[in-house]
Amino acid sequence: MAIGVKVVRRPDSVSYLRATLKGMTLTFGHLFRRKVTMQYPEEKSEPGWSLSPRWRGTHRMLTDEQGRAKCVACGLCPQICPANCIKLVPGEDEDGHRYPLIYEIDEFRCVFCGYCQEVCPEEAIHVGVHYENAEYDRGRFVYDLERLCAQTHPVSSLWDPADPRGE
Ligand code: SF4
Ligand code: SF4
Repeated sequence: MAIGVKVVRRPDSVSYLRATLKGMTLTFGHLFRRKVTMQYPEEKSEPGWSLSPRWRGTHRMLTDEQGRAKCVACGLCPQICPANCIKLVPGEDEDGHRYPLIYEIDEFRCVFCGYCQEVCPEEAIHVGVHYENAEYDRGRFVYDLERLCAQTHPVSSLWDPADPRGE
């Protein structure tokens, strides 16, 4: 089989000049466009931009009227969690009601898939519309039940197949 050889000519200096001008035109064009940078943390949203209601961030445990965690220690969320970051030790009171003796989520290991929220039969545990959970100490990322119940940020909306784009 014959081998064809294609000779590629080195660009001349006019080509370099044209490419440079094209790049500079693009760069200067951006000077006159609307700025999209927000001065975080002073600004966290602006008209036309805010976190999606489906954002999955820091967890929150919802409570009942008496302020008790809604969790009934069914064990589904630690079972489904792909990151194995939920620790649950179930307990039972004298009336046979189950409740979590220990319930902890390691936010550092969590991948924020939202499965725990989807699977919870009591709608107790939720991922939240919240991301400001930086810590200086690794251990502080393990949220115990008290801390999960004390969160007040909005909870995430689940994905709705009837409205796949969330509009
Ligand atoms: S969001 Fe996903 S990874 Fe995080 S705790 Fe829930 S199930 Fe586990
Ligand atoms: S799925 Fe809900 S009720 Fe069951 S252990 Fe998890 S948080 Fe508790």
